[in-house]
Parts: sequence; structure tokens; C-alpha cells
Amino acid sequence: MIKTKIAILGAGASGLFLAKYFKKDFLLVDSHEIPQKIKISGGGKCNFTNEFVSKENYLGDKNLIEKVLKHYSNKDVLSFFSDIKYKKLKNNQYFASNSSEIIKKLNQKKLIANIINVQKKDDFIIHTSKGDIQAQKVIVATGGVSYKKTGATDIGYNIAKSFGHSIENISPSLVGLTLQKDQFWMKNLSGVSTKAVCRVGDKTFKDYILFSHKGITGPAILNVSLYWKKGSVVIDFLPDFIIPKSNKTISNLLPLPKRFMTEFLKAHNFPDLNILKSKKILQLLRNYEFSPAGTFGFEKAEVTRGGVKTSELNGFESKIVSGLYFIGEVLNVTGELGGYNFQWCFSSAKYVADDLLTN
Ligand SMILES: Cc1cc2nc3c(=O)[nH]c(=O)nc-3n(C[C@H](O)[C@H](O)[C@H](O)COP(=O)(O)OP(=O)(O)OC[C@H]3O[C@@H](n4cnc5c(N)ncnc54)[C@H](O)[C@@H]3O)c2cc1C
Repeated sequence: MIKTKIAILGAGASGLFLAKYFKKDFLLVDSHEIPQKIKISGGGKCNFTNEFVSKENYLGDKNLIEKVLKHYSNKDVLSFFSDIKYKKLKNNQYFASNSSEIIKKLNQKKLIANIINVQKKDDFIIHTSKGDIQAQKVIVATGGVSYKKTGATDIGYNIAKSFGHSIENISPSLVGLTLQKDQFWMKNLSGVSTKAVCRVGDKTFKDYILFSHKGITGPAILNVSLYWKKGSVVIDFLPDFIIPKSNKTISNLLPLPKRFMTEFLKAHNFPDLNILKSKKILQLLRNYEFSPAGTFGFEKAEVTRGGVKTSELNGFESKIVSGLYFIGEVLNVTGELGGYNFQWCFSSAKYVADDLLTN
């Protein structure tokens, strides 16, 4: 049996970041040597934080989120990574020149093993594929269940449940949306992308949408998926477009891809008329309301919405079992696209590091 003071379960973004603050008496456990989600994140360039981070960029307990982001902010994350090569893109998203830079800075020695379950006698006993670990404190940093091929499992939720915690409904998020029959015309546009303003509830995102054979995706839609449960989404396909005086037909005049216009007009039985005779079409393009059928599912989702209920935690420590903590994506806190999820991992990890180091 291995004995340690602190066992960190999961060596992804949050577990590795937490481990950085301990010099001794801790053990990291993970089924993988290299943190797979960091590796593939941001298209291989890890979008590790954002210039503008607030509680409004997250779903979850806003008071907790605000407190934790204040404790360890985006500026703190930037200064932590100040010795790696990074770039600011889209005016606000910070990307590493390569995810390997982030991994090099965070990765460290760990026990490579599958975590099976955790029990508590006097200390915690963690059962793994490589034997048992005895620990005084356990930090669950095993993430969500999306992208199973990266090693994601539901172990964090199972550990939480086994100690009496509740899991807020989990679902795929930051994910493409599938379509109902009336929108199948979009499927003929696979590969086409266009800038749009997408609205869901009281949230608005102006960014690219990308049509695919499965439905619609792209950054604006991924963000929409965070806030969409059921009901409608509204797309303005003509953001910032001012109607000029012209004799041209709409397909020639509108700043939309040709293939898009052809399919759109065909699907709605509209003739390709002069722009001044196309009021109805313009109205529809500006206010295209529809109800998605569902999402592309966990295998394509960047994150898991829902998770361990934060109201059952004191900070991040269990109110039910002292010495048991949860950090990162396993919690019921989910961020928008743009570096917000790594920021949450780092902020929650630092909060717990300071808690453990001072108590
Ligand atoms: C394709 C993709 C791109 C993304 N890009 C970005 C981005 O650019 N910016 C951003 O902010 N977020 C991004 N995300 C989201 C981000 O990767 C996650 O929110 C973040 O990694 C969560 O960190 P975590 O530490 O909570 O969990 P993870 O990083 O998922 O780490 C959990 C660890 O636990 C281990 N584990 C799980 N179960 C077991 C078990 N039973 N036994 C042993 N080990 C186990 C896993 O191997 C893993 O290493 C992306 C996600 C995906 C899938």
C-alpha cells in the first residue's frame, strides 16, 4: 500500500496545476502519462485563458465563480505562463504557440493507474489497478466525460455519489447542434462557413458558424450549445449588413457564400429577385428561428455541462466528508468557448492549493 498525505486523482489541467504548488507529501494518479485534453485543446495550441473573464462567461453558482476568479484571475494565469510563447487571437483569446509548451510547464511524475473507487476508513483508501493508496486528503480532478478517447471517465461522479454527493444533470456542451427536417437544407452546405449573430435566451454570440453533414457547428454554435437545453435558437445571417440601393439580385449582392444562397432560396421557395423586392427573404435571413433536434453528443463535445453540485461543498471541500475535494470540470461549473474552461481549472486548483497550504 502506498501512503501519502494528499492524493490528487486525475493529472489533467486542474490536477497538474494543483500539484505545482506542493513540494512533498502528495501523489498524482492518472491513467495517462500525457494530459490528452491539454494536448488536443485549441487545435493543438491550447487556448489557456481570455483577456475578459467574468462570472458571466460561466454556467454555475455565480457567487462561487466570482470568488474563485477573484482569488486567481486571468492576469495571474498569464503571469504563471509568462515564460512560454503565446499569442492573443481574436483580440481576447490567449493561445500557446503549441500545447506542448503548457504540458512541459505543468506535467510531472505520477502513478500511472486506473482509479477504481475511493473509500474512507480513518484515512481514504483509493483502489487502483496498481494497488491501494492510503491518503489523508483526496482531491478529485478527473474531469468530465466528453471525448472518451482522451481517457475521460465518469469516475469523478461515481466517487462523489459514493460519498453521498449529488450530480447536477450532465450533458454534452460546446458541441455542434443537430437539425430538424425543416433545416435539412443546411446539411447540403457541409464545409461552408459564415459569420453570424446567434441568440439563445438572453445570450448573443457573434462569430463563425460552420455547416456540416451532421448539422451546424463553429464557435458561435458551440457557445450557443452551452446555454441551449430545448427550444429555439435565432440566427442573424447578415450581421452589420446595410441594404444598398442596387439593381443586383440578392444572391449577387448579399455577403453570403453562393452555395448558402442557392440552398436557402431553394429550401424556402424564394425567387432570386432584386434586393428591393426581397423584404421577406431579408427578414428571414436576419431572424432565422429554429429548434435544434439535439447535439452531436459527448464524443464531439469539448466539455461536460453539469457535474458535482457545488452547494454541497465548502469552497471545494465536501460538506459531507472532510478532506474530500473536487476541482475543475468535474464540478457543476462550465465556461464558454475561449479559454474559460482552463481558467476555471487553474483558478479552482489554486484556490484549493492555498486552502491546503494554509490549513
Ligand atoms: C477537443 C477539445 C478542445 C478543448 N480546447 C479547449 C481550449 O482551447 N480552452 C479551454 O479552456 N478548454 C478547452 N477544452 C476543455 C478543457 O480541455 C477541459 O475543460 C479541461 O481539460 C478540464 O480539466 P480537468 O483537469 O478538470 O480534467 P481533464 O483535463 O479532463 O483531466 C482529467 C484527468 O483524469 C484522468 N482520468 C479520468 N478518469 C480516470 C480514471 N478512472 N483513472 C485514472 N485517471 C483518470 C484522465 O486521464 C485525465 O488526465 C477542450 C476540450 C476538448 C475535448
